[in-house]
Amino acid sequence: MKTEISIQGLTASLSSARQSRKTIGFVPTMGNLHQGHLNLVREARKLCDVVVVSIFVNPIQFGPNEDFDSYPRTLDQDSQLLADVGCDIIFAPSVEQMYGKYPRLTNISVGQITDDLCGAQRLGHFDGVAVVVTKLFNIVQPHFAFFGQKDYQQLAVIKQFVQDLNMPIEIMGVPIARAEDGLALSSRNGYLSAEHRQTAPVIYQSLKTAASNLKQGALLSDVLLQIKNELTQHGFEVDYVEARSPMLQTVEQFDQDIVLFVAAKLGKTRLIDNLQVNFSSSFKI
Ligand code: AMP
Repeated sequence: MKTEISIQGLTASLSSARQSRKTIGFVPTMGNLHQGHLNLVREARKLCDVVVVSIFVNPIQFGPNEDFDSYPRTLDQDSQLLADVGCDIIFAPSVEQMYGKYPRLTNISVGQITDDLCGAQRLGHFDGVAVVVTKLFNIVQPHFAFFGQKDYQQLAVIKQFVQDLNMPIEIMGVPIARAEDGLALSSRNGYLSAEHRQTAPVIYQSLKTAASNLKQGALLSDVLLQIKNELTQHGFEVDYVEARSPMLQTVEQFDQDIVLFVAAKLGKTRLIDNLQVNFSSSFKI
C-alpha cells in the first residue's frame, strides 16, 4: 500500500492502472477511521481492481463554530487499518495541495435538497462537500465511488450533482455500520462523555420504534413527534426529526418508501442518524 500526499504523486501512481484498464474504486474520508469507513473500503475491494482512499479534513465544509481544528487526525492508525482491509493507495493531501495554489472562484451548489435537514443548520456545508468531492473525483478519476448512508443527505447531494453534471462515476451507497447497542458509528462519537455515550443509542431505538409504529398504521406526524419527545426526555437537544422520500422530497404520509432523519445534540456533540422505512414490504399479501 502506498501513501501519496501530492496530486502529482497520486496521478503517477494511478497512471499504469489506468493504462491497463483496471477499474478504480474510490472512498473519500476525513480519516479517524472506524468500521463504517472500512465497510466502504471492503465494498470497493470486492468490486474494483484498485482501491484509493482519501483522507482529507476539508476546511470549506466546516462552519466557523464547528470542529475543523479539533477534528481527530490519526493518519498512522488509519494507515494500519487500511492496509488490513486491502486498500491500495491512500491519498492524504494537505490543505495547501487541495486549495493553496490559486484562489478558488468556482462553487458547486446543489439546489433544493440542501435547503433543509443538515443544510439548514450547516450553511454552506454541502457546497463545501460538493466542491471537495468534485475536486477529488477529477484527481482520482474513479469508476466507482463509495459513500455511507450514514450521511444520507450527503449521498443524495452527491448522486444529484454527478447526474446533473454527467460525471462518469457510479455512486455506491453503503448501509450504516452501528455499534452493538445501535449507535451509528461516527468519528464524532469520541467526543461523547461516558454518560452521553450510554444515552446516545436512544436515537436508533426511537427510529426503530417509529418504523414499527408506522408499519402498524400510526400517523407520520404522530410518529415524528414521538421521536422528538423521546429524545428530549433523554436530554437531547433536537435539531430536527423529519421524514423524506428517498431523494429527499417532503412527504406528508407514510404511503411510499420513506427515510426518517434525526439530528440531535448531546452536550456539544451533534449526532445524526436515519432509517429507511420500506412501504411495500409492510403489506403481507
Ligand atoms: P467522514 O470521514 O465522516 O467524512 O466519512 C467518510 C465516509 O464514511 C462517508 O461516505 C460517510 O457517510 C461514511 N461513514 C461514516 N460513518 C459511517 C457509518 N457508521 N456507516 C457507514 N458509512 C459511514
